[in-house]
Amino acid sequence: MKEIIIKNPYTLDIVGSIATTPQITIDKFIDSALKFQSPLNRYQRAEIFKNVHLLLETDKNYAAKLITQETGISINDSYYEVSRVLNVLTLAIAELLTERNDILESDISPNIAERKVLTYRTPLKGIVYAITPFNHPINQVAHKIIPALATNNRVILKASEKTPLSAQYFCDLLFSAGLPREMLLSIYGDPISLYKYLSSQSAIELISFTGGVSVGKYIANRSGYRRLILELGGNDPLIIFADADLETAAELVVQGSYKNSGQRCTAIKRVLVHEDVADELTELVVDKTRSWRAGDPFDETIKMGTVIDENAARVIEYRIEEAIAQGARLRYGHQRSGALLQPTVLDKVTSTMSIVTEETFGPVTPILTFSKVDELINLVNNTKYGLSAGVCTYRMDLITTLAKQLHIGTLNVWEVPGFRTELSPFGGVKNSGLGIKEGIRESFKNYTNLQTLTLPW
Ligand code: NAD
Repeated sequence: MKEIIIKNPYTLDIVGSIATTPQITIDKFIDSALKFQSPLNRYQRAEIFKNVHLLLETDKNYAAKLITQETGISINDSYYEVSRVLNVLTLAIAELLTERNDILESDISPNIAERKVLTYRTPLKGIVYAITPFNHPINQVAHKIIPALATNNRVILKASEKTPLSAQYFCDLLFSAGLPREMLLSIYGDPISLYKYLSSQSAIELISFTGGVSVGKYIANRSGYRRLILELGGNDPLIIFADADLETAAELVVQGSYKNSGQRCTAIKRVLVHEDVADELTELVVDKTRSWRAGDPFDETIKMGTVIDENAARVIEYRIEEAIAQGARLRYGHQRSGALLQPTVLDKVTSTMSIVTEETFGPVTPILTFSKVDELINLVNNTKYGLSAGVCTYRMDLITTLAKQLHIGTLNVWEVPGFRTELSPFGGVKNSGLGIKEGIRESFKNYTNLQTLTLPW
Protein backbone atom coordinates (compact mmCIF):
# COMPACT_ATOMS: atom_id res chain seq x y z
CA MET A 1 0.00 0.00 0.00
CA LYS A 2 1.38 3.42 -0.95
CA GLU A 3 1.70 6.29 1.48
CA ILE A 4 1.29 10.03 1.14
CA ILE A 5 4.09 11.76 3.06
CA ILE A 6 3.34 15.22 4.44
CA LYS A 7 6.13 17.73 5.03
CA ASN A 8 5.90 20.99 6.94
CA PRO A 9 6.23 23.71 4.26
CA TYR A 10 8.35 25.91 6.58
CA THR A 11 10.85 23.42 8.04
CA LEU A 12 10.43 20.64 5.42
CA ASP A 13 10.32 18.16 8.35
CA ILE A 14 8.08 15.14 7.85
CA VAL A 15 4.82 15.72 9.74
CA GLY A 16 3.29 12.33 9.09
CA SER A 17 1.96 10.01 6.43
CA ILE A 18 -1.29 8.45 5.43
CA ALA A 19 -1.97 5.28 3.47
CA THR A 20 -3.71 5.47 0.11
CA THR A 21 -7.07 3.73 0.07
CA PRO A 22 -7.34 0.42 -1.80
CA GLN A 23 -10.32 -0.04 -4.11
CA ILE A 24 -11.58 -2.98 -2.04
CA THR A 25 -12.08 -0.63 0.94
CA ILE A 26 -14.13 1.73 -1.21
CA ASP A 27 -16.20 -1.13 -2.64
CA LYS A 28 -16.91 -2.56 0.81
CA PHE A 29 -17.93 0.86 2.12
CA ILE A 30 -20.29 1.48 -0.80
CA ASP A 31 -21.86 -1.91 -0.22
CA SER A 32 -22.37 -1.42 3.51
CA ALA A 33 -23.40 2.24 3.18
CA LEU A 34 -26.12 1.40 0.66
CA LYS A 35 -27.53 -1.28 2.97
CA PHE A 36 -27.34 1.02 5.98
CA GLN A 37 -30.54 2.83 6.85
CA SER A 38 -29.33 5.32 9.42
CA PRO A 39 -31.31 4.76 12.64
CA LEU A 40 -30.09 8.09 14.07
CA ASN A 41 -32.86 10.54 14.81
CA ARG A 42 -32.29 14.31 14.94
CA TYR A 43 -31.61 14.27 18.65
CA GLN A 44 -28.98 11.52 18.31
CA ARG A 45 -27.22 13.27 15.43
CA ALA A 46 -27.16 16.51 17.41
CA GLU A 47 -25.67 14.60 20.36
CA ILE A 48 -22.85 13.28 18.13
CA PHE A 49 -22.03 16.80 16.99
CA LYS A 50 -22.12 18.03 20.59
CA ASN A 51 -19.57 15.33 21.46
CA VAL A 52 -17.37 16.36 18.52
CA HIS A 53 -17.60 19.97 19.68
CA LEU A 54 -16.49 18.97 23.17
CA LEU A 55 -13.63 16.81 21.87
CA LEU A 56 -12.37 19.53 19.51
CA GLU A 57 -12.71 22.30 22.11
CA THR A 58 -10.65 20.22 24.54
CA ASP A 59 -8.11 19.34 21.87
CA LYS A 60 -7.92 22.70 20.07
CA ASN A 61 -4.21 23.28 20.75
CA TYR A 62 -3.37 19.96 19.12
CA ALA A 63 -5.73 20.64 16.19
CA ALA A 64 -4.29 24.11 15.55
CA LYS A 65 -0.74 22.76 15.74
CA LEU A 66 -1.56 20.01 13.25
CA ILE A 67 -3.02 22.51 10.76
CA THR A 68 0.06 24.74 11.02
CA GLN A 69 2.42 21.78 10.67
CA GLU A 70 0.62 20.55 7.59
CA THR A 71 -0.05 23.86 5.81
CA GLY A 72 2.55 26.33 7.13
CA ILE A 73 -0.12 28.96 7.89
CA SER A 74 0.41 30.96 11.08
CA ILE A 75 -0.71 29.39 14.33
CA ASN A 76 -3.09 32.34 14.79
CA ASP A 77 -4.76 31.47 11.48
CA SER A 78 -5.00 27.85 12.62
CA TYR A 79 -6.71 28.78 15.90
CA TYR A 80 -9.15 30.86 13.86
CA GLU A 81 -9.78 27.85 11.61
CA VAL A 82 -10.55 25.66 14.63
CA SER A 83 -12.91 28.29 16.05
CA ARG A 84 -14.78 28.31 12.73
CA VAL A 85 -15.17 24.53 12.83
CA LEU A 86 -16.55 24.74 16.38
CA ASN A 87 -19.04 27.31 15.13
CA VAL A 88 -20.03 25.07 12.19
CA LEU A 89 -20.86 22.34 14.69
CA THR A 90 -22.88 24.70 16.93
CA LEU A 91 -24.88 26.06 14.01
CA ALA A 92 -25.41 22.62 12.50
CA ILE A 93 -26.85 21.45 15.83
CA ALA A 94 -29.16 24.49 15.93
CA GLU A 95 -30.24 23.92 12.32
CA LEU A 96 -30.77 20.22 12.94
CA LEU A 97 -33.09 20.90 15.85
CA THR A 98 -35.08 23.57 13.97
CA GLU A 99 -38.13 22.32 12.11
CA ARG A 100 -38.46 23.95 8.68
CA ASN A 101 -41.12 21.84 7.02
CA ASP A 102 -44.02 23.73 5.42
CA ILE A 103 -47.74 23.08 5.59
CA LEU A 104 -49.48 24.88 2.72
CA GLU A 105 -53.23 25.37 2.26
CA SER A 106 -54.60 24.58 -1.21
CA ASP A 107 -57.80 26.68 -1.23
CA ILE A 108 -55.87 29.45 -2.93
CA SER A 109 -56.71 28.58 -6.54
CA PRO A 110 -60.03 28.17 -8.34
CA ASN A 111 -61.33 24.60 -8.76
CA ILE A 112 -59.03 23.12 -6.14
CA ALA A 113 -60.60 21.25 -3.30
CA GLU A 114 -59.55 21.93 0.22
CA ARG A 115 -56.39 19.93 0.85
CA LYS A 116 -53.22 20.34 2.84
CA VAL A 117 -49.78 20.23 1.18
CA LEU A 118 -46.97 19.09 3.45
CA THR A 119 -43.30 19.30 2.54
CA TYR A 120 -40.52 17.39 4.23
CA ARG A 121 -36.90 16.57 3.49
CA THR A 122 -35.38 13.12 3.12
CA PRO A 123 -31.73 12.04 2.86
CA LEU A 124 -30.43 10.99 -0.54
CA LYS A 125 -30.85 7.33 -1.45
CA GLY A 126 -27.30 7.24 -2.78
CA ILE A 127 -23.93 8.32 -1.40
CA VAL A 128 -22.39 11.82 -1.35
CA TYR A 129 -18.89 12.14 -2.82
CA ALA A 130 -17.26 15.21 -1.23
CA ILE A 131 -13.96 16.62 -2.54
CA THR A 132 -12.22 19.39 -0.61
CA PRO A 133 -9.23 21.75 -1.12
CA PHE A 134 -6.16 22.35 1.06
CA ASN A 135 -6.68 25.94 2.11
CA HIS A 136 -9.08 25.39 5.02
CA PRO A 137 -8.07 21.82 5.83
CA ILE A 138 -10.66 21.16 8.54
CA ASN A 139 -13.27 23.85 7.96
CA GLN A 140 -13.81 22.95 4.30
CA VAL A 141 -14.22 19.33 5.32
CA ALA A 142 -16.67 20.37 8.07
CA HIS A 143 -18.69 22.51 5.65
CA LYS A 144 -19.13 19.52 3.34
CA ILE A 145 -19.61 16.59 5.65
CA ILE A 146 -21.38 18.07 8.70
CA PRO A 147 -24.52 19.16 6.78
CA ALA A 148 -24.46 15.88 4.82
CA LEU A 149 -24.26 13.77 8.00
CA ALA A 150 -26.71 16.06 9.83
CA THR A 151 -29.27 15.17 7.18
CA ASN A 152 -28.53 11.45 7.66
CA ASN A 153 -26.56 10.90 4.47
CA ARG A 154 -23.66 8.56 3.82
CA VAL A 155 -20.46 10.27 2.64
CA ILE A 156 -17.18 9.43 0.94
CA LEU A 157 -14.71 12.25 1.59
CA LYS A 158 -11.68 12.88 -0.62
CA ALA A 159 -9.77 15.66 1.12
CA SER A 160 -6.77 17.37 -0.48
CA GLU A 161 -3.68 15.17 -0.70
CA LYS A 162 -1.82 18.24 0.63
CA THR A 163 -3.71 18.20 3.96
CA PRO A 164 -4.94 14.64 4.64
CA LEU A 165 -3.80 14.57 8.28
CA SER A 166 -6.12 17.38 9.37
CA ALA A 167 -9.01 15.81 7.45
CA GLN A 168 -8.44 12.37 8.97
CA TYR A 169 -8.12 13.93 12.44
CA PHE A 170 -11.58 15.47 12.05
CA CYS A 171 -13.11 12.23 10.74
CA ASP A 172 -11.62 10.36 13.72
CA LEU A 173 -13.26 12.87 16.07
CA LEU A 174 -16.61 12.07 14.46
CA PHE A 175 -16.10 8.32 14.97
CA SER A 176 -14.96 8.88 18.56
CA ALA A 177 -18.14 10.89 19.08
CA GLY A 178 -20.30 7.96 17.99
CA LEU A 179 -20.78 8.32 14.23
CA PRO A 180 -21.52 4.90 12.69
CA ARG A 181 -18.71 3.73 10.37
CA GLU A 182 -21.28 3.07 7.63
CA MET A 183 -21.89 6.82 7.31
CA LEU A 184 -18.41 8.08 6.45
CA LEU A 185 -15.30 6.92 4.61
CA SER A 186 -12.31 9.17 4.12
CA ILE A 187 -10.21 8.15 1.12
CA TYR A 188 -6.73 9.09 -0.07
CA GLY A 189 -4.84 8.59 -3.29
CA ASP A 190 -4.49 9.85 -6.83
CA PRO A 191 -7.42 12.29 -7.21
CA ILE A 192 -7.98 11.59 -10.90
CA SER A 193 -8.13 7.79 -10.57
CA LEU A 194 -10.36 8.09 -7.52
CA TYR A 195 -12.67 10.48 -9.34
CA LYS A 196 -12.83 8.29 -12.44
CA TYR A 197 -13.70 5.28 -10.31
CA LEU A 198 -16.27 6.96 -8.08
CA SER A 199 -17.98 8.92 -10.84
CA SER A 200 -18.52 5.59 -12.62
CA GLN A 201 -20.43 4.23 -9.60
CA SER A 202 -24.21 4.57 -9.77
CA ALA A 203 -24.21 4.56 -5.95
CA ILE A 204 -22.85 8.13 -5.97
CA GLU A 205 -25.89 10.42 -6.14
CA LEU A 206 -24.25 13.76 -5.44
CA ILE A 207 -20.76 15.14 -6.09
CA SER A 208 -19.89 18.13 -3.96
CA PHE A 209 -16.61 19.80 -4.95
CA THR A 210 -14.70 22.78 -3.61
CA GLY A 211 -11.45 23.70 -5.32
CA GLY A 212 -9.96 25.38 -8.37
CA VAL A 213 -11.76 26.18 -11.62
CA SER A 214 -9.85 23.82 -13.88
CA VAL A 215 -10.51 20.79 -11.64
CA GLY A 216 -14.12 21.92 -11.16
CA LYS A 217 -14.65 21.97 -14.91
CA TYR A 218 -12.95 18.59 -15.29
CA ILE A 219 -15.39 17.22 -12.73
CA ALA A 220 -18.41 18.90 -14.32
CA ASN A 221 -17.54 17.47 -17.72
CA ARG A 222 -17.45 13.94 -16.33
CA SER A 223 -20.06 13.97 -13.60
CA GLY A 224 -22.85 12.36 -15.63
CA TYR A 225 -26.52 12.60 -14.59
CA ARG A 226 -26.32 13.42 -10.92
CA ARG A 227 -26.56 16.39 -8.58
CA LEU A 228 -23.45 18.59 -8.63
CA ILE A 229 -22.24 21.30 -6.27
CA LEU A 230 -19.23 23.33 -7.40
CA GLU A 231 -17.60 25.97 -5.21
CA LEU A 232 -14.64 27.26 -7.22
CA GLY A 233 -12.03 29.98 -7.31
CA GLY A 234 -12.40 33.72 -7.02
CA ASN A 235 -10.86 37.00 -8.16
CA ASP A 236 -12.45 39.15 -5.51
CA PRO A 237 -12.00 42.92 -5.45
CA LEU A 238 -12.08 45.37 -2.59
CA ILE A 239 -13.55 48.55 -4.10
CA ILE A 240 -12.61 51.86 -2.52
CA PHE A 241 -14.44 55.04 -3.51
CA ALA A 242 -13.06 58.55 -3.00
CA ASP A 243 -15.35 59.27 -0.01
CA ALA A 244 -14.02 56.29 1.98
CA ASP A 245 -12.22 56.53 5.30
CA LEU A 246 -8.86 55.40 3.90
CA GLU A 247 -7.37 54.26 7.20
CA THR A 248 -10.23 51.77 7.68
CA ALA A 249 -10.12 50.76 4.00
CA ALA A 250 -6.35 50.10 4.15
CA GLU A 251 -6.83 47.92 7.23
CA LEU A 252 -9.43 45.90 5.32
CA VAL A 253 -6.99 45.58 2.40
CA VAL A 254 -4.25 43.97 4.50
CA GLN A 255 -6.63 41.76 6.49
CA GLY A 256 -8.31 40.55 3.29
CA SER A 257 -5.07 40.06 1.38
CA TYR A 258 -2.83 38.32 3.91
CA LYS A 259 -4.94 36.27 6.35
CA ASN A 260 -4.40 32.55 5.79
CA SER A 261 -1.34 33.62 3.73
CA GLY A 262 -3.74 34.99 1.12
CA GLN A 263 -5.04 31.50 0.42
CA ARG A 264 -8.78 32.00 0.58
CA CYS A 265 -11.19 31.76 -2.33
CA THR A 266 -12.46 35.15 -1.15
CA ALA A 267 -9.08 36.73 -0.35
CA ILE A 268 -8.67 40.17 -1.87
CA LYS A 269 -7.13 39.47 -5.26
CA ARG A 270 -7.50 43.05 -6.58
CA VAL A 271 -7.85 46.46 -4.94
CA LEU A 272 -9.88 48.81 -7.14
CA VAL A 273 -9.44 52.34 -5.83
CA HIS A 274 -10.68 55.69 -7.13
CA GLU A 275 -7.77 57.52 -8.80
CA ASP A 276 -8.21 60.62 -6.60
CA VAL A 277 -7.27 58.69 -3.44
CA ALA A 278 -5.05 55.95 -4.92
CA ASP A 279 -1.70 57.39 -3.81
CA GLU A 280 -2.80 58.03 -0.25
CA LEU A 281 -4.42 54.58 0.02
CA THR A 282 -1.34 52.86 -1.41
CA GLU A 283 0.94 54.55 1.15
CA LEU A 284 -1.32 53.38 3.97
CA VAL A 285 -1.43 49.83 2.60
CA VAL A 286 2.37 49.67 2.26
CA ASP A 287 2.74 50.93 5.80
CA LYS A 288 0.33 48.36 7.22
CA THR A 289 1.83 45.55 5.12
CA ARG A 290 5.13 45.90 7.04
CA SER A 291 3.51 44.36 10.12
CA TRP A 292 2.54 41.24 8.11
CA ARG A 293 6.14 40.10 7.48
CA ALA A 294 6.03 36.35 6.91
CA GLY A 295 8.05 34.10 9.21
CA ASP A 296 8.01 31.09 11.52
CA PRO A 297 4.35 29.99 11.52
CA PHE A 298 4.63 28.77 15.12
CA ASP A 299 5.73 32.17 16.41
CA GLU A 300 2.54 33.74 17.79
CA THR A 301 3.89 37.25 17.23
CA ILE A 302 4.16 36.61 13.48
CA LYS A 303 0.94 37.20 11.55
CA MET A 304 1.73 35.21 8.42
CA GLY A 305 3.37 31.86 7.68
CA THR A 306 4.09 30.15 4.36
CA VAL A 307 1.91 29.31 1.39
CA ILE A 308 1.17 25.63 0.88
CA ASP A 309 4.45 24.70 -0.83
CA GLU A 310 7.42 26.05 -2.73
CA ASN A 311 5.81 25.37 -6.12
CA ALA A 312 2.83 27.55 -5.22
CA ALA A 313 5.21 30.29 -4.01
CA ARG A 314 7.18 30.13 -7.26
CA VAL A 315 4.03 30.54 -9.40
CA ILE A 316 3.11 33.67 -7.45
CA GLU A 317 6.69 34.98 -7.62
CA TYR A 318 6.67 34.49 -11.40
CA ARG A 319 3.41 36.42 -11.77
CA ILE A 320 4.79 39.30 -9.67
CA GLU A 321 7.90 39.42 -11.88
CA GLU A 322 5.80 39.32 -15.02
CA ALA A 323 3.58 42.17 -13.75
CA ILE A 324 6.67 44.28 -12.95
CA ALA A 325 8.08 43.57 -16.42
CA GLN A 326 4.76 44.75 -17.89
CA GLY A 327 4.81 48.06 -16.01
CA ALA A 328 3.46 47.40 -12.51
CA ARG A 329 5.39 49.13 -9.73
CA LEU A 330 6.71 47.15 -6.78
CA ARG A 331 5.87 49.01 -3.58
CA TYR A 332 6.73 46.36 -0.98
CA GLY A 333 7.79 42.72 -0.62
CA HIS A 334 8.61 40.34 -3.48
CA GLN A 335 11.04 38.17 -1.54
CA ARG A 336 10.78 34.41 -1.36
CA SER A 337 12.55 31.73 0.61
CA GLY A 338 11.17 28.26 -0.14
CA ALA A 339 7.43 28.46 0.54
CA LEU A 340 7.80 31.65 2.56
CA LEU A 341 6.62 34.55 0.48
CA GLN A 342 6.72 38.10 1.82
CA PRO A 343 3.47 40.08 1.44
CA THR A 344 3.77 42.07 -1.75
CA VAL A 345 2.15 45.34 -2.81
CA LEU A 346 2.06 46.35 -6.47
CA ASP A 347 0.47 49.48 -7.91
CA LYS A 348 0.04 50.63 -11.51
CA VAL A 349 -1.40 47.17 -12.21
CA THR A 350 -3.59 46.83 -15.31
CA SER A 351 -6.51 44.49 -15.85
CA THR A 352 -4.69 42.38 -18.46
CA MET A 353 -1.79 41.29 -16.24
CA SER A 354 -1.85 37.62 -15.19
CA ILE A 355 -1.51 38.65 -11.54
CA VAL A 356 -5.17 39.72 -11.78
CA THR A 357 -6.59 37.78 -14.72
CA GLU A 358 -5.70 34.50 -12.97
CA GLU A 359 -6.51 33.63 -9.37
CA THR A 360 -3.25 34.48 -7.55
CA PHE A 361 -3.55 32.35 -4.42
CA GLY A 362 -1.15 34.05 -2.04
CA PRO A 363 -0.24 37.25 -0.15
CA VAL A 364 -0.24 39.78 -2.99
CA THR A 365 -2.07 43.12 -3.17
CA PRO A 366 -2.37 44.36 -6.76
CA ILE A 367 -3.74 47.93 -6.85
CA LEU A 368 -5.70 49.17 -9.88
CA THR A 369 -7.42 52.53 -10.27
CA PHE A 370 -10.72 53.69 -11.78
CA SER A 371 -12.27 57.09 -12.39
CA LYS A 372 -15.92 56.42 -13.31
CA VAL A 373 -18.51 54.01 -11.95
CA ASP A 374 -19.11 52.39 -15.37
CA GLU A 375 -15.40 51.76 -15.71
CA LEU A 376 -15.35 50.18 -12.25
CA ILE A 377 -18.31 47.90 -13.00
CA ASN A 378 -16.56 46.74 -16.18
CA LEU A 379 -13.37 46.07 -14.22
CA VAL A 380 -15.22 43.94 -11.68
CA ASN A 381 -17.38 42.06 -14.17
CA ASN A 382 -14.76 41.66 -16.88
CA THR A 383 -13.27 38.52 -15.35
CA LYS A 384 -14.12 34.83 -15.54
CA TYR A 385 -14.91 34.78 -11.82
CA GLY A 386 -17.93 35.95 -9.82
CA LEU A 387 -17.54 35.08 -6.15
CA SER A 388 -17.61 38.08 -3.76
CA ALA A 389 -16.60 41.71 -3.44
CA GLY A 390 -16.18 44.26 -0.68
CA VAL A 391 -16.88 47.98 -1.03
CA CYS A 392 -15.81 51.00 1.02
CA THR A 393 -18.11 53.98 0.55
CA TYR A 394 -20.77 55.81 2.55
CA ARG A 395 -22.87 56.48 -0.57
CA MET A 396 -26.02 54.38 -0.74
CA ASP A 397 -26.54 55.24 -4.42
CA LEU A 398 -23.19 53.62 -5.27
CA ILE A 399 -23.92 50.59 -3.07
CA THR A 400 -27.29 49.96 -4.75
CA THR A 401 -25.78 50.41 -8.23
CA LEU A 402 -23.09 47.85 -7.46
CA ALA A 403 -25.57 45.45 -5.84
CA LYS A 404 -27.64 45.52 -9.03
CA GLN A 405 -24.87 45.44 -11.61
CA LEU A 406 -22.09 43.22 -10.27
CA HIS A 407 -22.17 39.58 -11.40
CA ILE A 408 -21.13 38.06 -8.09
CA GLY A 409 -22.50 35.93 -5.25
CA THR A 410 -21.92 38.33 -2.32
CA LEU A 411 -21.30 42.05 -1.82
CA ASN A 412 -20.03 43.17 1.61
CA VAL A 413 -20.20 46.86 2.47
CA TRP A 414 -17.32 48.06 4.66
CA GLU A 415 -16.02 44.53 4.94
CA VAL A 416 -13.57 42.26 3.17
CA PRO A 417 -15.01 40.15 0.33
CA GLY A 418 -14.53 37.08 2.53
CA PHE A 419 -16.83 38.20 5.34
CA ARG A 420 -19.39 35.50 6.10
CA THR A 421 -20.87 33.59 8.98
CA GLU A 422 -20.90 29.80 8.77
CA LEU A 423 -24.67 30.08 8.25
CA SER A 424 -24.53 32.67 5.44
CA PRO A 425 -25.55 31.43 2.01
CA PHE A 426 -22.21 31.34 0.25
CA GLY A 427 -21.13 30.68 -3.33
CA GLY A 428 -20.46 32.31 -6.66
CA VAL A 429 -21.50 32.52 -10.29
CA LYS A 430 -19.66 32.25 -13.63
CA ASN A 431 -16.40 30.33 -13.12
CA SER A 432 -16.75 30.61 -9.33
CA GLY A 433 -19.66 28.20 -9.22
CA LEU A 434 -23.05 27.18 -10.52
CA GLY A 435 -24.96 29.56 -8.25
CA ILE A 436 -25.80 26.82 -5.75
CA LYS A 437 -24.99 28.13 -2.29
CA GLU A 438 -23.27 26.45 0.61
CA GLY A 439 -23.30 27.56 4.26
CA ILE A 440 -25.00 25.38 6.84
CA ARG A 441 -28.63 26.20 6.09
CA GLU A 442 -28.36 26.03 2.28
CA SER A 443 -26.30 22.85 2.48
CA PHE A 444 -29.04 21.11 4.43
CA LYS A 445 -31.20 21.70 1.35
CA ASN A 446 -28.47 20.56 -1.05
CA TYR A 447 -28.05 17.21 0.68
CA THR A 448 -31.75 16.33 0.83
CA ASN A 449 -34.72 15.72 -1.43
CA LEU A 450 -37.78 17.84 -0.80
CA GLN A 451 -40.80 15.56 -0.85
CA THR A 452 -44.41 16.64 -0.91
CA LEU A 453 -47.39 14.92 0.67
CA THR A 454 -50.94 16.15 0.10
CA LEU A 455 -53.82 15.25 2.40
CA PRO A 456 -57.56 15.52 1.80
CA TRP A 457 -58.41 17.96 4.61
P1 NAD B 1 -7.60 21.94 -6.42
O1 NAD B 1 -8.69 22.19 -7.41
O2 NAD B 1 -6.23 21.76 -6.91
O3 NAD B 1 -7.94 20.62 -5.55
C1 NAD B 1 -9.16 20.49 -4.88
C2 NAD B 1 -9.46 19.02 -4.66
O4 NAD B 1 -9.67 18.39 -5.92
C3 NAD B 1 -8.35 18.24 -3.96
O5 NAD B 1 -8.93 17.33 -3.06
C4 NAD B 1 -7.68 17.52 -5.11
O6 NAD B 1 -7.04 16.32 -4.73
C5 NAD B 1 -8.85 17.21 -6.01
N1 NAD B 1 -8.53 16.99 -7.43
C6 NAD B 1 -7.47 17.45 -8.11
N2 NAD B 1 -7.55 17.06 -9.41
C7 NAD B 1 -8.71 16.35 -9.52
C8 NAD B 1 -9.34 15.71 -10.61
N3 NAD B 1 -8.84 15.73 -11.85
N4 NAD B 1 -10.52 15.08 -10.38
C9 NAD B 1 -11.07 15.08 -9.15
N5 NAD B 1 -10.50 15.67 -8.07
C10 NAD B 1 -9.33 16.31 -8.26
O7 NAD B 1 -7.71 23.13 -5.35
P2 NAD B 1 -6.71 23.48 -4.18
O8 NAD B 1 -5.45 24.00 -4.76
O9 NAD B 1 -6.66 22.36 -3.21
O10 NAD B 1 -7.54 24.66 -3.47
C11 NAD B 1 -7.48 25.99 -3.88
C12 NAD B 1 -8.65 26.34 -4.77
O11 NAD B 1 -9.88 26.10 -4.11
C13 NAD B 1 -8.66 27.82 -5.11
O12 NAD B 1 -8.98 27.97 -6.45
C14 NAD B 1 -9.75 28.38 -4.22
O13 NAD B 1 -10.31 29.57 -4.69
C15 NAD B 1 -10.72 27.25 -4.23
N6 NAD B 1 -11.64 27.34 -3.10
C16 NAD B 1 -12.94 27.68 -3.34
C17 NAD B 1 -13.82 27.84 -2.27
C18 NAD B 1 -15.27 28.23 -2.49
O14 NAD B 1 -16.06 28.01 -1.57
N7 NAD B 1 -15.62 28.79 -3.61
C19 NAD B 1 -13.38 27.62 -0.97
C20 NAD B 1 -12.05 27.26 -0.77
C21 NAD B 1 -11.18 27.11 -1.85
